[in-house]
Amino acid sequence: MIEGRCISCGRGLAEEGSVQFPCPECGHIIKRCRVCRDRSAEYVCPECGFRGP
Ligand SMILES: [Zn+2]
Ligand SMILES: [Zn+2]
Repeated sequence: MIEGRCISCGRGLAEEGSVQFPCPECGHIIKRCRVCRDRSAEYVCPECGFRGP
């Protein structure tokens, strides 16, 4: 279980399957819920503005 909110949809991350990973550009921790991960929803890093699937 991950604390915080999904960066794409703002949902909580209590659900199983949520992921967190460092931004490829700046290393800021990106958190996403399972729904957005499954859909490969776009995210934007709040630190550097990097966009990624
Ligand atoms: Zn989400
Ligand atoms: Zn970044």
